[in-house]
Amino acid sequence: MEESVKILTDESEAKISSCATISDLNDIRVRVLGKNGELTALLKSMKDLPPEKRPQAGKIVNAAREKLEQAIAARQAELEQIELDKRLRDEKIDISIDMRQPASGGLHPLTIMRNRITEFFSSLGFVIADSPEIETDYYNFEALNIPADHPAREMQDTFFITENILLRSQTSAGQVRMMEKVKPPIKMLSPGRVFRADEADATHSPVFHQVEGLVVDKGITMCDLKGILDLFAQKFFGKNTKTRFRPSYFPFTEPSVEVDASCSQCGGKGCRVCKGTGWIEILGAGMVNRNVLQNCGINPDEYTGFAFGVGLDRITNIIFGINSLRTVFENDVRFLKQFN
Ligand SMILES: [Zn+2]
Repeated sequence: MEESVKILTDESEAKISSCATISDLNDIRVRVLGKNGELTALLKSMKDLPPEKRPQAGKIVNAAREKLEQAIAARQAELEQIELDKRLRDEKIDISIDMRQPASGGLHPLTIMRNRITEFFSSLGFVIADSPEIETDYYNFEALNIPADHPAREMQDTFFITENILLRSQTSAGQVRMMEKVKPPIKMLSPGRVFRADEADATHSPVFHQVEGLVVDKGITMCDLKGILDLFAQKFFGKNTKTRFRPSYFPFTEPSVEVDASCSQCGGKGCRVCKGTGWIEILGAGMVNRNVLQNCGINPDEYTGFAFGVGLDRITNIIFGINSLRTVFENDVRFLKQFN
């Protein structure tokens, strides 16, 4: 009897320690310690022993049971730990792993320049005003002193939608809307897209950008215009920049001027950038035509004003040294990346 218990115990212990899963371990428990298990069978067979040997045999069987139960519990703890480790390993998410960084975008050079210009004029008290890109003939031409038979209409090839509705060819249209609504003093800046039926080439595009400024108040003179534009030129082309006015013609200003800035590349001596002249044309300007003020319900004997229009695309090209207007519109990523 004692021998049988020892064999069973040794065999079972070997199976327990080599058993790989908890369910296998349960099978062993049932097969050895269960109600119909092998050790239980040995216990039952005690009744065949002589009575004086039974207590000793009972002790041996119980000791074996206790030993096996402990072995099973120990193995179970081990297997549970192995299983837990495996789960932790399998289900691990490494949140520190390097992600592919999304490419960060940048502002378009035109946007960069528009922001700089509007910031500059805001700091001088100009109000930034928006106006429609689709305009009526009245606001785009008539009110700006360009009646139907005016030769100036031929200066611009306009996109007409109907006989009376068009894509605005100049941001000045928005100034008329402002002057109709607001009594002087007026100090406004209107940046925006304008449209003309031009073939696209290095210096022309059917859509381009203007930034137009307007000041109307009592006693405004050309000196005020010159003063503001000097500040503007010094801000964008360098501290020592000078400006000069050349006589010009626009229907909505009288007198009208083209404004040049001294070339910041060569300091006025003449170079490739200024085509040897020492000057770079930067904008058009003038004193608001009396007829325009009158059309907007402002008395030209009481108020005067000046207006100026900057070609945003042109200024952007000058500042960033871009050679062709086309590059600004083609949106080639390799080109745009330089401004990030
Ligand atoms: Zn130069």
